[in-house]
Amino acid sequence: MKRYQMMIGASWRDAASGAWIQTPDPFSGQVWAEVPRGNAEDAGLAVTAAHQAFHSPEWASLTATQRGALLRKLGDLVERDADRLAQVEHRSNGKNITEVSGQAKNVAQWFYYYAGLADKIQGAVVPINKPGVFNYVRYEPLGVVVAITPWNSPLALTAWKMAPALACGNTIVIKPSEFTSPPLLELAALALEAGFPAGVVNVVTGYGNEIGEALINHPLTAKIAFTGGEAGGRLVAEAAARGFKKVTLELGGKSANIVFADAEIDQAVRGAVAGIFGAAGQTCMAGSRLLLERSIHDVFVRRLVELVGSARIGNPSDPQTQIGPIATRPQFEKILRYIEIAKSEGATCVLGGYPLSGAEYGQGQFIAPTIFTGVHNRMRIAQEEVFGPVLAVIPFDTVDEALQMANDTQYGLAAAVWTQDLHKAIHCSERLEAGTVWVNNYRATSFTTPFGGYKHSGIGREGGLDGVHEYLQAKSVWITTRPDRPNAFVLG
Ligand code: NAD
Repeated sequence: MKRYQMMIGASWRDAASGAWIQTPDPFSGQVWAEVPRGNAEDAGLAVTAAHQAFHSPEWASLTATQRGALLRKLGDLVERDADRLAQVEHRSNGKNITEVSGQAKNVAQWFYYYAGLADKIQGAVVPINKPGVFNYVRYEPLGVVVAITPWNSPLALTAWKMAPALACGNTIVIKPSEFTSPPLLELAALALEAGFPAGVVNVVTGYGNEIGEALINHPLTAKIAFTGGEAGGRLVAEAAARGFKKVTLELGGKSANIVFADAEIDQAVRGAVAGIFGAAGQTCMAGSRLLLERSIHDVFVRRLVELVGSARIGNPSDPQTQIGPIATRPQFEKILRYIEIAKSEGATCVLGGYPLSGAEYGQGQFIAPTIFTGVHNRMRIAQEEVFGPVLAVIPFDTVDEALQMANDTQYGLAAAVWTQDLHKAIHCSERLEAGTVWVNNYRATSFTTPFGGYKHSGIGREGGLDGVHEYLQAKSVWITTRPDRPNAFVLG
């Protein structure tokens, strides 16, 4: 068993309480790591270290180009250790090794992208409407950023925050999910090896209500970047409001995958499967509502059931495995509850609907891929995030009806449209209330383009140029150019 420590400043330390949290392997059920159970005292130390680092000459006097070089070095180290990092994440959340390996390599790309962007964030000279004055805008970092991340993609979702935050000159305190802290503690060691000055990157571990709340409420925290569920997001937003802190929230989704009768059906079937059963449905962008034009409903469902029925389910360490376990026990139980809710609401279960047990499923928390038909959009199974391998299929007759149902949700993270009609594709992508719309594909993401939610799916964007502006504040500088008439413009 491996015992990890937290990183505060450049020091590795146990929690002030001396307590530990165990990390079980979701497939074998065996505890393989322990991380410190931090509390408010550790939170205070970490935010203070990050605040001191923010003002330290070692960090504050670096040029943007030098910050970019550090991020590039970190990207190199992540790439060098991608397989090892992937193994650590995979043991923590049980995600298929093939998917995690791909994601770990992609994490390096996030550091490279924002390394390149660091010295390309430019201010502006403003054609100000006053005589005798020169005005320019410069963009400055915010200070201490607290990044709080969930268990489903800990490395990636941390890099989405850490790379732009550091590129802009902030310092950061990362609080990973209590279920998946080891990969972020490994990343902390790489940040140290890359040469980031002490206190610029800190990683503390523990439960949300113990250390998380202390971090978001700390008076020296300038910004909170949170990915997680709605309840946590609301607490973060409230703390941010109380302290007038900046906030980015990446929350849940109930994304609609709309398939029109004129779609390329084979591709759409594969897209629907990847959309909801990839990562066993444990992704915020899961296409958990499948809206099918009525004329293709029956044939589409038949092909869906055939394809999903042949999926290889089992040990996530086997590269052939397509669907792995559920990452945590509470999540496993929540998914089973939703399956019962769907049945009690009158939806028809045409595939799965039960937990899987047997030698090939380890001690695991496996749920058979589950498809419900006969779903009405106002049912709870169509409105609430399950975060598991459970698909709700809803028929529609017209484009307007499909769009009305797709938008009839509190969420707005993503949506997809499958059609060969360009006009329909553009019309739908304009009317869908979602931060990401895919046309004839699903689950594509990139560091070059913004990702985030409409409505209850979040506030702000991660990725691309939009991503950096979440970590900057504008300063307007006024310089008198007529010293003989210093205040002339005030009246002018
Ligand atoms: P969660 O909200 O339970 O936990 C997320 C993080 O918040 C964890 O680190 C947790 O310790 C912390 N936290 C919990 N309560 C807190 C509190 N009171 N104060 C401060 N921190 C607190 O979410 P989860 O179960 O780990 O992840 C699943 C959720 O994340 C789903 O709802 C999913 O949709 C969402 N998610 C969103 C995105 C996105 O980009 N939009 C990506 C992945 C996951």
